[in-house]
Amino acid sequence: MATMEKGTISVQTENIFPIIKKFLYSDHEIFLRELVSNAVDATQKLRQLAAMGDVKGEIGDTHIDIKLDEEAKTLTISDRGIGMTADEVKKYINQVAFSSAEEFLEKFKGQDPANIIGHFGLGFYSSFMVAKEVEILTKSYQDAAAVRWTCDGSPEFTLEEAEKAERGTDIILHIDTEENAEFLREGRINELLEKYAKFLPVEIRFGTKTEKEGEGDDAKEVEVPNVINNTEPAWTKAPSDLKDEDYKAFYRELYPFAEPPLFWIHLNVDYPFNLTGILYFPRIKPGVEVQKNKIQLYSNQVFVTDEVGDIVPEWLTLLHGVIDSPDIPLNVSRSYLQSDGAVKKIGSYITRKVADRLEDLFKNDRSEFEKTWENFSVIVKYGMLTDEKFYDRAVKFALLQNLEGKYFTIEEYKEHVSAMQTDKDDKVVMLYANNKEAQDPYIRAAEKKGYDVLQADNVIDNHFLGFLETKFEKTAFVRVDSDTPDKIIDKDEKLDSVLSEKEIKRLEELFTGVVDNSGAHVELKPMSPEDNAVTITKPEAMRRMREMAAFNGMDFLANQPESYSVVVNTNHPVSGKLLRARGDNKERMARQLYDLALLAQGMLTGSRLSEFVERSVGLMAPAGEGEPEAS
Ligand code: ADP
Repeated sequence: MATMEKGTISVQTENIFPIIKKFLYSDHEIFLRELVSNAVDATQKLRQLAAMGDVKGEIGDTHIDIKLDEEAKTLTISDRGIGMTADEVKKYINQVAFSSAEEFLEKFKGQDPANIIGHFGLGFYSSFMVAKEVEILTKSYQDAAAVRWTCDGSPEFTLEEAEKAERGTDIILHIDTEENAEFLREGRINELLEKYAKFLPVEIRFGTKTEKEGEGDDAKEVEVPNVINNTEPAWTKAPSDLKDEDYKAFYRELYPFAEPPLFWIHLNVDYPFNLTGILYFPRIKPGVEVQKNKIQLYSNQVFVTDEVGDIVPEWLTLLHGVIDSPDIPLNVSRSYLQSDGAVKKIGSYITRKVADRLEDLFKNDRSEFEKTWENFSVIVKYGMLTDEKFYDRAVKFALLQNLEGKYFTIEEYKEHVSAMQTDKDDKVVMLYANNKEAQDPYIRAAEKKGYDVLQADNVIDNHFLGFLETKFEKTAFVRVDSDTPDKIIDKDEKLDSVLSEKEIKRLEELFTGVVDNSGAHVELKPMSPEDNAVTITKPEAMRRMREMAAFNGMDFLANQPESYSVVVNTNHPVSGKLLRARGDNKERMARQLYDLALLAQGMLTGSRLSEFVERSVGLMAPAGEGEPEAS
């Protein structure tokens, strides 16, 4: 070849350089991923050729160097891969790479770049997003002179023979300091390498770090190359080569500040799609919000994105870990992704694997499963609520916990309570408390009846139990405070009334007079004399409607005054006493009983509470009594 050749890259449609500069404006940083990936590819190709005996001599050290030169304002990516001959530069850089960049831009013209997953496909020419001039200095592994290609962001390029001692390619970016000076900052480059290159399969070095060498008095600090990546991350290894400790160590590598995971699933398939990865069940503390979007998507160890919501079912985004699949199309828009056949298959494959793992643990180590259930139940419940296929699997191992702390599958629990808790319509009524401290009086009342009470204090439980009701026939979930003990499981038992109808009428008038909430209504019922005298109940259906409204942000409905019933047990001895009381005492006693019921429901607050306290003290020491005795 002539020592110097000038040419014009064959532009098909229009000059794409200005478009590249503007395109993906917010995502300029991906140029580094593209160039480092090319360097990795070139290195791996060389290793393959060497393995087949097609490279003469030793291939030597094949790491990749990233170098910043602040004075020259350059960023250089150097590999010791296959390199290119002059003809290859013309073919691959001037033609192949250029037309694929053109194709990429054509395809995404007018689209919101944020919609394109990972922005893959722009390739080598993405370097013009940040550089005003790009140089390629390359020497092929084959016997050929080294060449230098330069291009200043116009379709003109130069190609000339050059001096280069070592095999491989240097990509030298003359950073455009007007708009992209950030890419001359060491901290910024480090951050990008940490993000995109952390698990690439070829060693990548950037800068140096100090390390201690030797021990005791002989110890000294030495400068060593700073290696960015772990070239053999756990997910690329065979599960049989990994111990629990390795999985935990890898988790720490991914999330240095997180608590150890509960358990994990090693994904490994190559048909009908290629996918590897490790998914972890994080330890979720009850009451703490779950962190979504912790799963990282890779393609052949190149980081793509940490938003995998378009690839796996939404509920799985609560898991942590890594998915690596070259079969996920990356140069497509996110909306397309969801309809892609391979992606759908990947979603259901992962769902199945997660279900397998949980079922396995449930069957083989139920006590461990129960012990940690609280730390991952949200994920399972969310999955059951939103993913039919997962529901069908999980319904066999999802657990309910009663207040004694015992765990049951849904079927087991139904069996456990059916003898005592079947109502007159043959429905098994399962009782639950969502706040066992506050609902203690109701829990005791239910237990006195021989009923069992479930613990359901997770935010998702409302939905979950309501959902189970629609799945299981003849089953109801009812909160302990939604009715009086005699009615909460309606067995159609009627108790005779001790009081006459006239007396009941008087009692009703009395209580209607003291109940001051418009949403409340008074109900008189003959119950067991041992049941509470006055009880506040909140009908299950009404309460759920309010909760739903609150959840869906329908404030108008959610903020309506809460409706409840004030149920007076006409068979309680205090009811008779009340009727016999004289004058003011009658009303005071009724008020006291109503307040006590409100108190038991945690509804006695404000001035009403102060009045109650005063009145209670007054009852113990009526006016005129209790004055200090004259000595
Ligand atoms: P892609 O990597 O998707 O093929 P690129 O535009 O990034 O597209 O690169 C085009 C081609 O240029 C590559 O396929 C390769 O043949 C060549 N190439 C780019 N970078 C290097 C490199 N560092 N060493 C050797 N060849 C390279």
